[in-house]
Amino acid sequence: MKKEFYKSLVFKLSILSIIIIISLLTSSILFNSQIDKLKKNIDKIYFGNYIPVLKLHDIEENFKDLITCIRTYKKCNRETFFIKIKKDWKYYNNAYKDVEERKVVNKIHKHVLKSFTYKTTISEYKTLITKIDFLKEHEKKIAYKQRRSFLKEYTQMKDYLFYNMILLIIVSFLFIFLIIYSIIKKDNQLKILTKKYKMDSITDSMTKLYNRMYFDRIFDNMPFISNANKWNTAFIMFDIDFFKQYNDTYGHDMGDITLKAVANSIKTYFNKEYEYVFRLGGEEFGVILFDIDEEMLKDCLDEVNKNIESLNIEHKNSKISNVVTISIGAVIYEPDSYISCNKLYKLADENLYKSKQNGRNQFKIQ
Ligand code: GH3
Ligand code: MG
Ligand code: MG
Repeated sequence: MKKEFYKSLVFKLSILSIIIIISLLTSSILFNSQIDKLKKNIDKIYFGNYIPVLKLHDIEENFKDLITCIRTYKKCNRETFFIKIKKDWKYYNNAYKDVEERKVVNKIHKHVLKSFTYKTTISEYKTLITKIDFLKEHEKKIAYKQRRSFLKEYTQMKDYLFYNMILLIIVSFLFIFLIIYSIIKKDNQLKILTKKYKMDSITDSMTKLYNRMYFDRIFDNMPFISNANKWNTAFIMFDIDFFKQYNDTYGHDMGDITLKAVANSIKTYFNKEYEYVFRLGGEEFGVILFDIDEEMLKDCLDEVNKNIESLNIEHKNSKISNVVTISIGAVIYEPDSYISCNKLYKLADENLYKSKQNGRNQFKIQ
């Protein structure tokens, strides 16, 4: 039973560990992929939008310098400007652009290509600068738009991650709670079963008194307990009078019912701490009372005799009464008297025999 319980406990804990590992793996994969997405977005903003603006700015500056050169020198060497502008423009033009952007850039692209000649006038360069300026503004606007959509996406991403994590945590806790709950439940069931099993092993199934096996254990230890605590201890034997006749008259089933009623009456009477009631076998019962004196014992046994009589169970074939009665034999063990258990049992049995001989329905204490 215990083995099975621990087997299922190990199984559940393994499942829990697997769930936690999977949860952590999933969340880290999720987190990683989202971070990658985030990184790509940042790249897009800074390298896809910010650098084009810088390139356009350089192109614009070079055109302005070219105009100054033309104005200052009659034989201005335009080639150096053309090379720089061509290089920057090529970089800008080849960079990724969406369809709308591409249309706008293509229009200006033709003008830029045409401008790499000595025939181009200052006013044409100025017009080109205005167009480049327009492109710059256009790029800025796109960057702004993309930044806004990125921020929106970023917030959504953050929320998505947050709620996923919360969900994973809740699910994990739910599983942990369920497993702990089932462990506690199983453990309680096991405790109850163990207790029940222990009780069953020392209980007589018919009368619910302690059984003979438990009597032997307690009775063997009785002298030691009495010596150690300096207690007088009584051992009492009870036997139903003319019970054979009772069975013969009323049947075995009725005999069982009466046996239980007598056992219950003795058990109810001796129900305090240090009071043990046993079924010794057949219709005989035994009681061990720790810490008791003779006077008190006499009163008790007198009362027990009366209690059984007052159960008023008809016994018309009893030779001493018309109701069920019991005879009692008792012995008191005095601390440090070192009388053996066998001897004590024999003495109590002899006293019981004397009670029978003296007319039954009475007790005898040595
Ligand atoms: P005495 O007064 O001398 O004790 O007479 P008695 O008839 O009680 O004595 P005896 O020991 O000869 O008979 C005991 C009877 O108890 C015999 C047996 O059938 C009956 N008995 C023992 N155990 C049980 C039981 O569990 N159920 C029933 N119904 N009868 C039992
Ligand atoms: Mg008997
Ligand atoms: Mg009897």
